Amino acid sequence: TGACLTAIDGADALGAFVHKTPDIAREQATAADARLAKGDAPDLCGIPLGIKDLFCTKGVPGQAASNILAGFLPEYESTVTSKLFGAGAVMLGKLNMDEFAMGSSNESSCYGPAVNPWRSDDRELTPGGSSGGSASAVAADLCLGATGTDTGGSIRQPAAFTGIVGLKPTYGRVSRWGIVAYASSLDQAGPMAKTVRDTAIFLQAMAGHDAKDSTSADIPVPDFEAALTGDIRGKKIGIPREYRADGMPAEIAALWAKGADMLRDAGAEIVDISLPHTQYALPAYYVIAPAEASSNLARYDGVRYGHRAKLSQGDGITEMYEKTRAEGFGAEVKRRIMIGTYVLSAGFYDAYYNRARKVRALIKRDFDQVFAGGVDAILTPTTPSAAFGLGEMASADPVQMYLNDVFTVTVNLAGLPGISVPVGLDSQGLPLGLQLIGRPWEEAALLNHAYVLE
Ligand code: GLN
Repeated sequence: TGACLTAIDGADALGAFVHKTPDIAREQATAADARLAKGDAPDLCGIPLGIKDLFCTKGVPGQAASNILAGFLPEYESTVTSKLFGAGAVMLGKLNMDEFAMGSSNESSCYGPAVNPWRSDDRELTPGGSSGGSASAVAADLCLGATGTDTGGSIRQPAAFTGIVGLKPTYGRVSRWGIVAYASSLDQAGPMAKTVRDTAIFLQAMAGHDAKDSTSADIPVPDFEAALTGDIRGKKIGIPREYRADGMPAEIAALWAKGADMLRDAGAEIVDISLPHTQYALPAYYVIAPAEASSNLARYDGVRYGHRAKLSQGDGITEMYEKTRAEGFGAEVKRRIMIGTYVLSAGFYDAYYNRARKVRALIKRDFDQVFAGGVDAILTPTTPSAAFGLGEMASADPVQMYLNDVFTVTVNLAGLPGISVPVGLDSQGLPLGLQLIGRPWEEAALLNHAYVLE
């Protein structure tokens, strides 16, 4: 913990930590020492972690990287962080992210971007998003692991951009209670760490049923670390032909082939599969996620949480709402609220929202059929490219940024577990990741497949 706190203070330029909690860290570390001395050491005893700013931690400022939550002090502890601390983990502080987890580059944060510790040609690169601070902190050894959340790729894409492991669990595996909601039917929290083994141990402490989250599943949590045998003989790995996008960079295609070879060498059978509705996933996601966001973000109205605008003489409650939301939300969040409100409006509900829900069902059916056909896991690239430069995409058409999520959003729409593993470097020496997608509730098998790729 001491070494991490020193490293964090020396790495302010990365913008990874937005709120440091050294006093809490030292207190928890001392308590962990006492437990160790008594021989009562749970799995994460004394392990220093960073917490994404989306998780409420009692008495510690939490803003979801938004100005609208300026000054908000949660009075409750999220289930995930309370489980982590119960397992002995130490909290180093809160981590940077895209505002309300909307983005793929950490550039929509009210704190400014987090920076990727990997560089090329002296360009500053994005660590990805929305869990950019988490990825940057783990990759730069500022902490041993970090919590992330993944609505459309926000754990897996930053993990790929920074050369670490990130796992998005099956929807319902990890409680969402106490995590600021973006799109509730897609959001899942998960671990980000250096290795597959660390990821397994970390997930163990986060997972499990929680009566406070009605979408959390009452399903036994297996021993994830025990599943890491490296034995995948006879397993069937699907390579979906629809992910072979036109214009895929040769380096990404080569990495994908290398990953398939590694799994084949370990005794798995590689099969071509089809997920025919893949091309509709991105548009469906960018209807459903903003729709849910526009509803979830209605609560930030200047009455209950955080920021309230200064009012002029004669302003009523409507002006208070309008001014507060105009000042408090950033441009990307406003864009999502407007898209979401539009697709949910009476005149367009059937054309957009209902249609997107039908597409979602078809995407889920594609996966169900492939798994019913005996496929154990699906292998794809995590991202269409290595990390891009800060500012390179943010200034362009927002749709360019959305295209980053092309390989990751299907997993959230179908509620499946997905993991990104660092498998190689591109010609500039930047990390590239591969994604494995598993059957629902089979994170243990998924981790074991990822273990072979590591
Ligand atoms: N980039 C996607 C979005 O902006 C995914 C973000 C996430 O998973 N939280 O919605």
